Formats: sequence, C-alpha cells, structure tokens
Amino acid sequence: MTTKLFNTAIAGSLPKPAWLSETNKLWPQWKAEGEELKQAKADATLLWIKAQEDAGLDVIGDGEQSRQHFVHGFLEQVEGIDFDHKVKMGIRNNRYDAMVPQVVSTLKLKGRVHATEAQLLRAHTAKKIKFTLPGPMTIVDTVSDQFYGDKVKMAMAFAELLNQEALALQADGVNIIQFDEPAFNVYMKEAADWGVKALEVAARGLTCTTAVHICYGYGIKANDDWKKTLGDQWRQYEEVLPALAKSSIQQVSLECYHSHVPPHLMALLEGKDVMVGVIDVASDDIETPEQVADTIGKALEYVPKARLIPCTNCGLAPMSREIAIKKLHALGLGAALARERYA
Ligand code: ZN
Repeated sequence: MTTKLFNTAIAGSLPKPAWLSETNKLWPQWKAEGEELKQAKADATLLWIKAQEDAGLDVIGDGEQSRQHFVHGFLEQVEGIDFDHKVKMGIRNNRYDAMVPQVVSTLKLKGRVHATEAQLLRAHTAKKIKFTLPGPMTIVDTVSDQFYGDKVKMAMAFAELLNQEALALQADGVNIIQFDEPAFNVYMKEAADWGVKALEVAARGLTCTTAVHICYGYGIKANDDWKKTLGDQWRQYEEVLPALAKSSIQQVSLECYHSHVPPHLMALLEGKDVMVGVIDVASDDIETPEQVADTIGKALEYVPKARLIPCTNCGLAPMSREIAIKKLHALGLGAALARERYA
C-alpha cells in the first residue's frame, strides 16, 4: 500500500452557526448559556466534523466551536486571570484594539480546558484529529499583564499550562496538536529569541505530531489594511522559519495562496512537514480545484511531496458558513486533482 499524498487539513477555526453565536465576528456573543450553550457547542462541533468529512478532508478538527476566541477560550480556564475587568489593549504591535483580560496572580489551570470537544471529536470520526491551542507568545500578546512584569517569564508560565493541557489532549486520542502563533509574524526577532523556546516547552513530552501555525491573520479589515503596508514581498517568515527548522516542532502551517510571501521561503523548512495555505481566508471567492492544484504545484518546487499538507491560510471563523463549506470542498477537490497531476 502506498501512502496517500497531500493529506488535507484546515488551519483551525470555522464559522459558528447563527444559532450558536453572532456571526461574522471575531469575538461573537453566545446565543445561549449554561447547559443549553454546552449542547449547542457540541451540536455545532458535530456539524463541522460531518462537513469536513463530506469535503473529503483527511485531518479533522473541532472548528473551535466551543471557544469565543482562539486565545481567550484557553484563558477562561486559567486561574490568575481576571475576566471581569477586561481592558482595551492594542494587540499584534497595535494593529488593532481588543478587550483583553488581565493577569493578576500566579497562573494555574483550573482543570481541563478542551476535554469535552476533544473527546467528542475522537468519538465521531475515524480520521486523524488535530487540536489547536494558542501559542505562548500569542497569548502574552492578547492579555494585559499586571503581575509578572516580564514577557518571557509570563510566556514560560503559560507554556507550562499549555503543556499540561496538550498532554491531556494527547491522552484523549488527539493525533496532532497545533499551537497558533500569529505573533511570530509580528515580533520576528523575539520569536526567534524566545518564542520558539516557549513553544517547545508547551510541546514537551508529546509523542503525537506537533505543529505550529503562523499567519497574517483572519480576513478582517485591520489585517487587510496591515497587509497593504507590508510591501510586495512579505519576508517575515524568513526571520522565524530558520529557528523553527531547528526546533522539535514537526509541522509548520503557513500562508501561500494570494499572499505576498515569496514561495522559496518554504525551503527554509527542510525536514518539516509544511501545511501550505492553498485557500485564501480574506476573500469570499471560492478557489477552483485547478487553482488549488496550481498552488500545490508551486509549493512542490520547495517542499517534498510527502511533506506537503494542503491547508487553509488561516482560520475561517469570521466568514459566512456557506462560503466556508464551499472553501472546504475546494480544498478537498484541489488536493484530489493534485494527486492525479503530481502522483
Ligand atoms: Zn491564522
């Protein structure tokens, strides 16, 4: 038996149905509470497992249906964080303002963070499952520190908590644990200095596959405006990828289609599996299978066949549900076409 090429995966988030929360928003309000909300989150997760399988994807995620936001979903289960008094803070080097909780004392997990959705995912698909967690550096950039007074120290404290949850997720049967680090693309020097080290602390002792996702953000206006300032060639990856190549993290997810990242930067990831973004999350236009296969073809100049995982550029959370489903199908069909072309 030969191994199937171009196994497909999504970066992480998917839109929440209108009955679960507000739509087309990054920090949507839930539509229910208590037991009813718990059930609604589970129902939405099941719906997206089915949608990913229908699209022929190979690695299935929970679509992050149980968390309001990819960073704050984790923080809600952390002791030492004051969620009642959020403050306005510029995040991602002041690219946009967010209302963020404050770190007020020593950090500690209150208990399991994602047990319910990970176990639900494992119980309802026979395929490989991937679970996403925010990376330590990105957490530090999405919270207001009133206690540690030192970014690196606080990042390492978060990394320990992430490690605790990651090991538990692995025990739940998760095959791939991915840390999301959009902050790596903003603070490149710090990422290479200590961000990757913090990531390795978060992944310490894992025997499942480990991954990191680095992107230019969701398809929201603040990010579109920022991208316009980055010039013709986006070379942020150039500073971070060499540090990642030397790390123990096995897979790297990055943007490709419609981005201004020079594709040859992918060659910096020799020895890693590369999740290549073949689906644009900043446009509602649906990619054709040919466009997806073409992007895969371009990436093949720099990434070996067996190491290429076609993926979305970023999460699809703020998009419409209908568009997201079509994009999942485009991903599945494009990968299938690429298998015919490049096998
Ligand atoms: Zn992303």
